[in-house]
Amino acid sequence: MPIGAATRACCCPSQPAARVVLPPSGDRDAQEIFLCAHHLRASAARLRQLGAPIYDERGLPVTAPEKIFVAVRPRGNADHDAQKEAACAPTTS
Ligand SMILES: [Zn+2]
Repeated sequence: MPIGAATRACCCPSQPAARVVLPPSGDRDAQEIFLCAHHLRASAARLRQLGAPIYDERGLPVTAPEKIFVAVRPRGNADHDAQKEAACAPTTS
């Protein structure tokens, strides 16, 4: 399922670049989250550890999340996307 334009990332206010399905753990059911490119790359190792399937904004499986950068959008330009991604730095330590 493609990611809709109105969808917001779960990690920060950026545009989501991927949909991740977190496997069930303990009492928690499987959970679907949307991550921006920045946080997807930051979480890539952990997601791989969990075996969480990752899908890009077209709904296609992502095999190398650490290589996902800001999604290319027809209306966007590189400078604007770079700024958006810079704004996406984690705020917690
Ligand atoms: Zn983010």
